[in-house]
Amino acid sequence: MSKEMEAVIQKDPNEREFHQAVSEVLESVKPVLDKNQEYRHANIISRITEPERVIMFRVPWADDRGEIHVNRGFRIEMNSAIGPYKGGLRFHPSVNLSILKFLAFEQVFKNALTTLPMGGGKGGSDFDPKGKSDLEVMRFCQSFMAELFRHIGHNTDIPAGDIGVGAREIGYLFGMYKKLKNEFTGVLTGKSLNWGGSLIRPEATGYGAVYFAQEMLSTRKESLDGKTCIVSGSGNVAQYATEKIMELGGKVVTFSDSSGYVYDEKGVDRDKLNYVMQLKNIKRGRIQEYAEKYPEAVYTPVDPNQDFNPLWNHKADCAFPSATQNEINENDAANLLKNGVYVVSEGANMPTVPEGVNLFLDNKNMLYAPGKAANAGGVAVSGLEMAQNSMRIKWSREEVDMRLKEIMRSIHTSCVDAAEEYGTPGNYVNGANIAGFVKVVEAMIDQGVV
Ligand code: NDP
Repeated sequence: MSKEMEAVIQKDPNEREFHQAVSEVLESVKPVLDKNQEYRHANIISRITEPERVIMFRVPWADDRGEIHVNRGFRIEMNSAIGPYKGGLRFHPSVNLSILKFLAFEQVFKNALTTLPMGGGKGGSDFDPKGKSDLEVMRFCQSFMAELFRHIGHNTDIPAGDIGVGAREIGYLFGMYKKLKNEFTGVLTGKSLNWGGSLIRPEATGYGAVYFAQEMLSTRKESLDGKTCIVSGSGNVAQYATEKIMELGGKVVTFSDSSGYVYDEKGVDRDKLNYVMQLKNIKRGRIQEYAEKYPEAVYTPVDPNQDFNPLWNHKADCAFPSATQNEINENDAANLLKNGVYVVSEGANMPTVPEGVNLFLDNKNMLYAPGKAANAGGVAVSGLEMAQNSMRIKWSREEVDMRLKEIMRSIHTSCVDAAEEYGTPGNYVNGANIAGFVKVVEAMIDQGVV
């Protein structure tokens, strides 16, 4: 283990997910540091692994029965070398400092890869929106924003959605920000279309992960047409990855949530996808209900402590993990390979454990795209939303989609070029880490020790 990594662990010994994310980047960028001694002289690793600012705050709110609850709110402002902090808010009971620091750290490099001027941040709360009424969610969002508003701004820090934060939550958060600041600015992205949102923003992360898979396949003169795909999750990213896979001729056979998954051998079609969108976005039900509605599908409950997740143990060509971090363990990665999967494009952030990543990288047939490259489409279109807000204009669906495709293509090219330059052709992990890292570090050095 490098001295730099030891220091990171010593400083915050309990931040397991943060260590995992840092360790992967440090391994990839070692040859870059060896080649550019000035990066070491600038003590760049200590600086880039320390957030510029961490905000932690109390979020009190009253439920519908009048009982008072207290959650913890966070915003990690990780790095602003190439632009204002940008990254989502996550509302999920598992949220803690380690998870948000890992997400903020990854976000820095992801945002750099998009070529847009955005620094990295992430935030959220251990609040669980599941089972809460709309009014409870609204009161929570208002209380959360009553503190967050003083730390963000359209030139400072621009949050967006993530797990548990969709159009409904962004609406409540924006409403409160506007009231407190008395200004209508593009301070959040993922807004609804009729008050400043961008076309294609809801679709962007899922579509982007599929475009990235297409780019990888095109290096072998192949496409998604006719491919069988495993998709995990059933939220925003999973839904739009599925839509785009279907449009490009692929067949999606699974959806999941934190209770279990459905396997539909016939494949998802437009009606079934509409049903999932209704079920998850409006009714806020469980994916189990899919198998009740479509008897050809089989529902399997999943215990997170099992040795392997049966979701990843089906014959397929491609996998689009789109739920959460570390959802593919080493056994799952082995099962994917055993079942013929040779394309993995990560819609989720860090969904594969390091041992699983190594299995993918050791298999020469595997085309493996890490989240920070494959799911950058979401933040890229958030960047486009910011641009449209500043210019007070609205681009058409075709225009935004064309720009998204172009950005995903350019991220693919940057990854391929950086991996080749540093002697690991085809390794998208090294490619993404190196390309993002160099851009941010060069900016940090230009700006002095701040
Ligand atoms: P949603 O909240 O819309 O959906 C999340 C999905 O993942 C749900 O199906 C949820 O199931 C499932 N899930 C969440 N936690 C777990 C868990 N611990 N175990 C199993 N399943 C779980 O979130 P998104 O679709 O927006 O986000 C999915 C992933 O994509 C995340 O990793 C996020 O960081 C990443 N991402 C999202 C972007 C975006 O633009 N939205 C941008 C880039 C990355 P349940 O309903 O049971 O909770």
